[in-house]
Amino acid sequence: MEGIGTAPTALLADGTVLPRHSLLDAEVARVIGLYDHVTRLPNRMQFIDDYPLLMGRGGRLLVLVALSDARHYNDMLQALGHAFADDFVRDGARLLGERTGYAYNIYHVGVVSFALVIEHTMPGIVPPLVADLIAAFDEPIACAGIPVRARVAAGMVPLDDTMRDPAEALRAALTSAREGRTKPGACGFYDRRTDAAHGRATRLLTDLPEALADADQLSLHFQPRIDMETGLCTGAEALLRWHHPHFGPVSPGELIPLVDQTALIRPLTDWVLDRAIATARGFAKGGMGLRISVNISPRNLTQPGFADMVMARCAAADHDPASLELEFSEGALMADIGHTAPVLAALRQHGMTVSIDDFGGGFSALGELTRLPADMIKVDPGLVRRVGTARSDAFLLRQIISTARGLGFRACAEGIEDRETFVLLQSLGCDEGQGYLLGRPMPARDFDLWHRATY
Ligand code: C2E
Ligand code: CA
Ligand code: CA
Repeated sequence: MEGIGTAPTALLADGTVLPRHSLLDAEVARVIGLYDHVTRLPNRMQFIDDYPLLMGRGGRLLVLVALSDARHYNDMLQALGHAFADDFVRDGARLLGERTGYAYNIYHVGVVSFALVIEHTMPGIVPPLVADLIAAFDEPIACAGIPVRARVAAGMVPLDDTMRDPAEALRAALTSAREGRTKPGACGFYDRRTDAAHGRATRLLTDLPEALADADQLSLHFQPRIDMETGLCTGAEALLRWHHPHFGPVSPGELIPLVDQTALIRPLTDWVLDRAIATARGFAKGGMGLRISVNISPRNLTQPGFADMVMARCAAADHDPASLELEFSEGALMADIGHTAPVLAALRQHGMTVSIDDFGGGFSALGELTRLPADMIKVDPGLVRRVGTARSDAFLLRQIISTARGLGFRACAEGIEDRETFVLLQSLGCDEGQGYLLGRPMPARDFDLWHRATY
């Protein structure tokens, strides 16, 4: 009987006759499988096979050279085609071979990446050979007569006892090359800590959409805002909490800066707004009419129709926008004041309170306050906590509060942890306060109980 690989022809439905390709001899197939057909260099499989020998007994470094990043390569592929991209990779491989004097096995381990193992015993010092390889790509590579600039980067991983797995070593090298791309010499050394942090950050971002759909993972805590004169609770700040199924509690201080870099900040802010509005509504029904404040990210302000969106959410929940406060960090507002000021003005026109968060923490200039359409200045907790120890900070605090009030803003001090600070702030005429002394952030139910017990 004829085997699948031995029929003389293959017939397509329209009658086209193609030569039938026969199955390869097993040994030939195995050997071909160990080579890259574009560069004819040993490939990742061969690297894995050779790895125990490459590792040796220590003192060796895995060097991964990436000729370009994925985007650069894909752009080239789309613009100039596969044959051209293959030329680019082949020429890159040739250059690597020449510069190393063909003294090493160079493995073609990814579409545009090559690996070699060299002796190197000085951790953190870029070996001259690697610096030389990077420099080799300063000049464009000529592909089919067209000069193409490579975007080369190198990642280096010391092959110590913790790197017994070849796949893990290559992954670590790739991560280091990616890190290296952002550095002046385009070289990165493997750093277990940043790699772990990177892994965690990626995982948090990947898992967030599921958390947004899951009723149990995300929640809001509410921290009381107190009128400094009467001692009454005027409102509460809604603060995000995430209980991640694997990592446990994830602080917003870690999460928000990550999410801010992505489009996920919109659905997250939507979630927080809806939840905060619903809770405020519940409090109001229970006779607790409070202003609830929500933290808004800079990216939310670039969202077209942001003010209308917030209004629509209030309307859908039948909630009075006048009892909603939105907090914006000062730096983000000032970065693009021409665009942000009209959005803040629109929010205020709808009756919402607009506050400037963490004022006085960074490079805040008091003069800038005149340009911001806002109602409230929230004084940076770092500054508030230092007033007891540094006289210059007490002076700055006094200036901020008096200028803010002089310009018609209300002032709220955050991070009040002791009575002395509370009394000092009172004497400075600060309108509102927030801090562990006055009340910790609590789940809505606990906040309700706390409020009933206190007032
Ligand atoms: P923030 O807006 O400045 O919030 C105040 C932070 O200070 C909160 O930290 C609060 O728990 C903490 N805090 C309050 N009183 C005291 C005190 O007396 N002493 C000390 N040491 N800390 C105090 P948290 O909840 O970890 O939030 C950190 C930051 O994450 C917030 O800073 C805010 O910028 C951001 N964030 C929290 N929730 C959200 C959210 O829903 N959306 C956005 N975009 N950002 C959020
Ligand atoms: Ca805040
Ligand atoms: Ca703050």
